[in-house]
Amino acid sequence: MSADFSTEAVVIGAGAVGLGVARALAQAGRDVLILEKNARTGEETSARNSEVIHAGIYYPKGSLKAELCVEGRNRLYAFCESHGVPHRRLGKLIVATNADQNQDLATIRQKAADNGVTDLEPLSKAQIVALEPELTVTGGLLSPSTGIIDSHAYMQALLGDAEAAGASLVRNAEILSATLQDGRYRLTVRNGGETMALQTSLLVNCAGLWASRVARLIEPLDAAFAPATFLAKGNYATLNTRSPFRHLVYPVPEAGGLGIHLTLDMGGAARFGPDVEWLETDDPARIDYAVSKTVPAHFAPRIAAYWPKVTEAMLAPGYSGIRPKIGGRANPNADFRIDGPDAHGLNGLVNLFGIESPGLTASLAIAEKVKGMLRDA
Ligand SMILES: Cc1cc2nc3c(=O)[nH]c(=O)nc-3n(C[C@H](O)[C@H](O)[C@H](O)COP(=O)(O)OP(=O)(O)OC[C@H]3O[C@@H](n4cnc5c(N)ncnc54)[C@H](O)[C@@H]3O)c2cc1C
Repeated sequence: MSADFSTEAVVIGAGAVGLGVARALAQAGRDVLILEKNARTGEETSARNSEVIHAGIYYPKGSLKAELCVEGRNRLYAFCESHGVPHRRLGKLIVATNADQNQDLATIRQKAADNGVTDLEPLSKAQIVALEPELTVTGGLLSPSTGIIDSHAYMQALLGDAEAAGASLVRNAEILSATLQDGRYRLTVRNGGETMALQTSLLVNCAGLWASRVARLIEPLDAAFAPATFLAKGNYATLNTRSPFRHLVYPVPEAGGLGIHLTLDMGGAARFGPDVEWLETDDPARIDYAVSKTVPAHFAPRIAAYWPKVTEAMLAPGYSGIRPKIGGRANPNADFRIDGPDAHGLNGLVNLFGIESPGLTASLAIAEKVKGMLRDA
């Protein structure tokens, strides 16, 4: 990258969303440069999640999460098939463990139908036990369109498509400032030990956990369009025995979360979680992904509600990921926020905030949305 480098579009961040946006813009004929501050792509939230292709069941009707999850899931399955990305549509069980929760199942089914997810099948206790003999439940739902994906292979495929359409990726490139002058964004970027200058007409901020910090660097973006991001860590426990399960298993959601659920990776290994641990910092230098040794003891009794055989000794501290949340503790399920020129008034700029789950599932739909917002820019 030379000091006077000029391009048409810059995408900040090479996670699943940034790579998806870069691909969409490049395939639309834009000249795209992707800036990633780390040495490798997809090292942050896109590499630290459950790798579940969500059906789109729980999100409020009309929300971006609902709309983009359902559209994104359909696009994602088609992409995986056309690009040979490892994935499995193995289905998810939502299980009730008492009479009150049995009542909740009808509400969940209705909520899903409101989002266009009409394939949930009510299952009796006997039907669930026939599918997963080790579960102790009172009833449930099967979501056949929930699946799992190899997120690393997915991001490689996105980057491959983007590069084939002419996009370039610059690693170790951290954006330091962005100023709109004469209709172009003038960026300064730290690249390795050097500071570079470059210009672009389109600027898309897909910086994930750090999107609010990046937005605050953009002049003259009004502060109302750089909302605070609060960080909520999610810890996993891994099962250190062979998994007896063939489906993903989610308890009926509890207030504020999806409960400690079971997901499987592409190798069939089981993990439980994530929980919700609010972090008191938003300083990148203070982020610690280590998982406490106490996680198995906290998780085991909650898992035992639907899988009585589990013991603390069968679990080990796993990995963790961090959710960017723009609603904080007061509104933990806040929607995605995608601000284009119509929102903040700056031509050519899109900022994406709060892209927590189902951001991986929704990534291709988010990319289309961003492309549409920049169509006339
Ligand atoms: C615990 C957990 C479980 C989840 N499970 C699922 C799931 O099962 N299914 C699902 O659909 N979603 C899930 N999600 C959500 C999903 O992982 C995210 O929505 C998605 O990965 C977000 O992608 P992203 O590209 O926006 O962010 P990221 O992957 O974080 O990418 C942002 C990139 O921007 C870069 N960057 C930041 N600042 C700068 C800068 N100043 N200059 C240059 N680059 C910068 C970062 O280094 C990073 O690479 C989960 C999330 C968590 C935390």
